[in-house]
Amino acid sequence: MAKKIPMRQCIGCGEMKGKKELLRILRTQDEEVILDATGRKNGRGAYICPNAECLKRAKKSKGLERSFKMKIADEIYDSLTKEIGIFEKSVRNAGNGDEGR
Ligand SMILES: [Zn+2]
Repeated sequence: MAKKIPMRQCIGCGEMKGKKELLRILRTQDEEVILDATGRKNGRGAYICPNAECLKRAKKSKGLERSFKMKIADEIYDSLTKEIGIFEKSVRNAGNGDEGR
């Protein structure tokens, strides 16, 4: 029997992807919006591809604001962009990990 992968929709491009391929953005109880790298914190979550382009799209379409039902400040997008940039790099490095053997 094939294992069913839980699919989530990216708030940027709208594509359905496996949970592990997406990053989770979390709204905490204090109305903070953070990138939840572990995916284990409590709160309202939204999913996004690990790339800055999707975050840009989410900002334009207000996908994140709709998911969280709150206004998202530019500074929050800025810090999310930075954090996603780090993931973007690590994904890329993992993709061609032939070096250092
Ligand atoms: Zn996306």
